Amino acid sequence: MLYLYNSLSREREEFTPRNPGKVGMYTCGPTVYHFAHIGNLRTYIMEDILDRYLRYSGYDVKRVMNITDVGHLTGDSDDGEDKMVEGAKREHKTVLEIAKFYTDAFFADCKKLNIRRPDVVEPATRCIGDYIKIIKKLIDSGYAYVSGGNVYFDTSKLDNYYVFNRQNEEDLVVGVREGVEADEAKKNKCDFALWFTKSKFEDQELKWNSPWGLGYPGWHIECSAISIKHLGEYLDIHCGGIDNVFPHHTNEIAQSEAYLGHPWCRYWFHVLHLNTQSGKMSKSKGEFLTLSLLEEKGFAPVVYRFFCLGSHYRKSLVFSWDALENARGSYDKLIARIAQLSDSGKEIDDAAFDEQKRRFTDALDSDLNTSLAITAVYDVLKADTNDETKLALLDDFDRVLCLDLTKNAAARREADELARQAESGDPEILEAIARRAEAKKNRDFAEADRIRDELALRGITLTDTPNGTRYTVSKT
Ligand code: AMP
Ligand code: ZN
Repeated sequence: MLYLYNSLSREREEFTPRNPGKVGMYTCGPTVYHFAHIGNLRTYIMEDILDRYLRYSGYDVKRVMNITDVGHLTGDSDDGEDKMVEGAKREHKTVLEIAKFYTDAFFADCKKLNIRRPDVVEPATRCIGDYIKIIKKLIDSGYAYVSGGNVYFDTSKLDNYYVFNRQNEEDLVVGVREGVEADEAKKNKCDFALWFTKSKFEDQELKWNSPWGLGYPGWHIECSAISIKHLGEYLDIHCGGIDNVFPHHTNEIAQSEAYLGHPWCRYWFHVLHLNTQSGKMSKSKGEFLTLSLLEEKGFAPVVYRFFCLGSHYRKSLVFSWDALENARGSYDKLIARIAQLSDSGKEIDDAAFDEQKRRFTDALDSDLNTSLAITAVYDVLKADTNDETKLALLDDFDRVLCLDLTKNAAARREADELARQAESGDPEILEAIARRAEAKKNRDFAEADRIRDELALRGITLTDTPNGTRYTVSKT
């Protein structure tokens, strides 16, 4: 039984979706005005573990993610410039050009990190009609009002607006902050824009017709509308980084429940931040680390995933190069140990399999304790059972962890064998391999094939690997 911490109740709860066996899961997607930083990617890695573990546990999951390509202003209380417009200006491109570029870059990073692509990915600019429909109903039912040309949600209409904070607004960064000009058009300081028509920003690139004039949607409405469109009126679980709690998720709940007339989402899953030693990593500060930078410094993406899984998603995680270096050391050692396991076709030991698997599921059932799940991987290596069972367990766990355990162990074995052959292999075969490589380099493929065939006749098989060619001699 899976227990998850629910930010809404502030308690660990048994996870039971509304429809048995089926889970509707919504994830706030990236704002595509820049590359995702490794902090953003921490959130997506941990959400991926949740997504995969639900599937591993037998649920039929439908996961939906938006892509924020309009309406997310630099200030969370409807102040500042649209982040997309800012990004487009920075790069002298159109908003749609940078949206496409950074959306592709985001999914390329996800792929490298073994993050599964959600079943539905919906850019905010594609759902304008859905926002208009919701906003109209909110105005008709008195939850929203037009003022100063914009449409706002009236937070005073709710008894329970600060849902995540038990109505304690003091510890939230709310509405009007120091140095920020108050929006005169708002009736209450926490009211938020659903639709901008009279924008302060004349250069807003994308605008649409609406009953309230030419304009564009506020940021929060997109997630409510996209979730309801694809997952229906009842949502099982909603995910995001901890900074989304207020105002974004608070506002999503306000408008969704006002629109639907009933409770909307049952569980809220929030990932704490990745910080640097000097504070939160943030895109808007301009100084942040990307996955490409990690790769340039020689770290494989999977090492970053391993680094993230080493700590619990509800604890903030401090990034340092030393910590990443340590993670790489541990990962390499783990892979080297797995590389020593060999499959000689023995039968799986079911009792040992079940016992080890239980440790793994107990760890993840306990509010997704990934570091304990990694400990379960080490326990497998120490277990008193055959290598076949160990390999089967590692493949099973890796359906959730996605650390390429047996795949990288096989690559490691290849590389070790290649190094061994280079040092003490049969000189005559090594010389033939070198001649073949030279022939290939000169594009003399007929000669290369001839050398391969000649060796094959003597029972010597060549395997080309990314690091060079290895041979095996068949025992006759
Ligand atoms: P954004 O692209 O700014 O909309 O953010 C994408 C996701 O990353 C959101 O779920 C944020 O809550 C999350 N996020 C932002 N900064 C961090 C950070 N430093 N650590 C972890 N997650 C973050
Ligand atoms: Zn969202």
